[in-house]
Amino acid sequence: MEFRLTEEQKMVQETIRQFVKEELIPLEDEVLKNEQEGRPGLPPEKLKELQFKAKEMGFWGIDTPEEYGGAGLDPMLLAIVLMELGKTFVPFAFGGSADNILYYTNEEQKKRYLIPTINGEKTSCFAMIEPNSGSNKQNIQMTAVKDGNEWVLHGEKTWITDGHEADFVMVIAVTDKEAYEKTGRDGVTCFLVDREMGWTSKVDPTTGEGNPVSLVFQHVRVPEENILGDVHGGYNLGLEWVSFARWVASVRAIGAAEHLLQMAIDYSKERETFSQPIAEHQAMQQMMENYASDIEAAKRSMLNATFTLDKEGDNKHVASMAKLPGAAIGSHVVDSVLQIYGDIYTKELPMDRWYREARLWRIYEGADENQHTIIARNLVEEQVKIGQYV
Ligand SMILES: Cc1cc2nc3c(=O)[nH]c(=O)nc-3n(C[C@H](O)[C@H](O)[C@H](O)COP(=O)(O)OP(=O)(O)OC[C@H]3O[C@@H](n4cnc5c(N)ncnc54)[C@H](O)[C@@H]3O)c2cc1C
Repeated sequence: MEFRLTEEQKMVQETIRQFVKEELIPLEDEVLKNEQEGRPGLPPEKLKELQFKAKEMGFWGIDTPEEYGGAGLDPMLLAIVLMELGKTFVPFAFGGSADNILYYTNEEQKKRYLIPTINGEKTSCFAMIEPNSGSNKQNIQMTAVKDGNEWVLHGEKTWITDGHEADFVMVIAVTDKEAYEKTGRDGVTCFLVDREMGWTSKVDPTTGEGNPVSLVFQHVRVPEENILGDVHGGYNLGLEWVSFARWVASVRAIGAAEHLLQMAIDYSKERETFSQPIAEHQAMQQMMENYASDIEAAKRSMLNATFTLDKEGDNKHVASMAKLPGAAIGSHVVDSVLQIYGDIYTKELPMDRWYREARLWRIYEGADENQHTIIARNLVEEQVKIGQYV
């Protein structure tokens, strides 16, 4: 076991840290202003410009295999990069990437969906959740009924990230009601559906800035060749997408928590009350120590999920275990930073923005209560044994 970064990992960390510090954090004020005025935080042309800057530094398609022109970073390097990106709320993502499950496309689908997505010519979104099927993924109502060489999709999805901008969606629908009702996972299929095929999106007003939207399918006809993976085999694709996103959420939350705690420490050394910096008050120090220790513990859990992803591929159980403390510590730290900033409770400062973002971490990619249930079920059913990993 090695608890220190290699020279290569340190170099990547330092490069991204500089990029975040020099290119992204200075944009925070502008992002805040844009969002407050109802525009995207980063205008598309600015995002592209930043992506090309990062590309010149070798950061393009960071999770994209080299055969598709990406950097193909291993999970540990990916975690190092994403943790650094988590230190700003500027909505930046490296170019040249595609959703993990798009790699299950066949040769023809790769040309129409995977490659254009990697090249930035098409934008995708993933839709599993519905108004009545959130934590309970055994309650999907959207149906797909076979009609000749087509499937007819009917239903609604909700809280879909990038759903307003997407050119196509990877959407999960019930294709065999009987099998689905019996097992809760068989009988659902994942379809690749272009916006031109007829689905529409409508904005859900949210407290955060991610702007997830609802997708409405009214008897949308989808050709047979647009099935992703196997007919009736979509549930596992959905879980694979969600588990990866869950791990990413835990990684970014740790990066954000570290950044926010550092902000609190810096501010507490400047601000004075009772003739001394508030950093000198014992209660403040205790709070800082508690959070620093909790972040460290959550980080170990996240690194175990990263290591498991790298060595074993399937890290669903440990990704749930990592997301719980990661999301919790992220949202607790932001609450305390707001406390430390005291009456500087203003929309001019990024705390309000961080606060709303951090609160979501405990909900999306599976709410906390959902993670508890998953972890407990895996243990009771002995799919995972206590002490199995280290
Ligand atoms: C910003 C954002 C972006 C999202 N992006 C996407 C996306 O791109 N694609 C997609 O498919 N989905 C997306 N989602 C959906 C997200 O994954 C769901 O919101 C999440 O899984 C929780 O489902 P729900 O909101 O329906 O909550 P519900 O299932 O209605 O649960 C409500 C609350 O009840 C509690 N609860 C639920 N079940 C249990 C239980 N068994 N025991 C005890 N308590 C329980 C929890 O506190 C939970 O928060 C997004 C959500 C948000 C907020």
